[in-house]
Amino acid sequence: MTAIVQASGLLKRYNGTLAVAGVDLAIEAGEIYGLVGPNGAGKTTMLRMLATLLQPTSGDAEIAGHSIRRNPQAVRRVLGYMPDSFGVYDDMKVWEYLDFFGRCYGLSAPQRKRMIGDLLELVDLADKRESYVQGLSRGMQQRLCLAHALVHDPAVLLLDEPASGLDPRARVELRELLRELRSLGKTILISSHILPELEELCTAVAIIDRGRVLDAGTISDIGQRLRVGEVLRIRVLGDDDGREAALGWFAARDDVASAELVPGGELEVGFRGDETGAAAMLADAVRAGIAIASYAPAATDLQELFLQVTGREDQVAVG
Ligand code: ADP
Repeated sequence: MTAIVQASGLLKRYNGTLAVAGVDLAIEAGEIYGLVGPNGAGKTTMLRMLATLLQPTSGDAEIAGHSIRRNPQAVRRVLGYMPDSFGVYDDMKVWEYLDFFGRCYGLSAPQRKRMIGDLLELVDLADKRESYVQGLSRGMQQRLCLAHALVHDPAVLLLDEPASGLDPRARVELRELLRELRSLGKTILISSHILPELEELCTAVAIIDRGRVLDAGTISDIGQRLRVGEVLRIRVLGDDDGREAALGWFAARDDVASAELVPGGELEVGFRGDETGAAAMLADAVRAGIAIASYAPAATDLQELFLQVTGREDQVAVG
């Protein structure tokens, strides 16, 4: 399968700042692909280059086979871009807003009429057609902005932090809308520093920091690559002394890389072996008189992966 978005060595320098440091990226058609990284990682710069709004210092990218350098006009036809800030549109009604952009794309009056009806239905704003744009809630403005990005029915959508500033309900609505767009055949590249948002939504992610892609793939693939053995969560019955003794017992084993008590009183044990080895260790622990109430692999979430890949605890939002 060929990628619908393919970046090679994409690099952007602003005066002294290397904002995007030579990024390679391949996104298959139909994916919801997440760009995850803290503020200043280079996400907006990446998206603006792909959207042909910013000239790369070096490198190139192709979108649906068109080069962002050599054929930006063709790229714009297949691409919808939603920036991270919503412009001010005083005294404009919702339908006028979409009509305006429809005219920009050269749509005829009947085409615009159909487009406005379809898009307002899609983003669930049909009943706000006659409302003024500035009077809409943030979530509604965000959905209208998404409708704007869809005016020319692009195959690829670039969304810069679309969930930022939305309340939890508006986030859920946005997520549902993006899933619906995917089912309509769109490919979506979405950036966020709000990790759990992407975890539920994305088919693949690239973890980006300081302008570099540190790892990319499905969340479970990244987890597999990072994992050396398995992290086990173990709940031991008894008092604090019993748990400390159990911790010492696990920590003393050669096949245990790390052992710590985590909030909630469970032990988190970094185990070097495979499942069979983990089962043998459980049997050993029981024989040693440790009262184990539960014993299972720790779930690795995107937040944890991000911290492991970047080694940074600062600037990472959890929701
Ligand atoms: P993100 O979207 O991940 O927060 P940005 O792409 O906005 O990251 O920024 C990446 C880096 O580039 C940051 O260090 C930022 O300060 C710098 N930067 C962004 N835009 C400009 C600009 N117009 N001029 C100079 N530096 C910039």
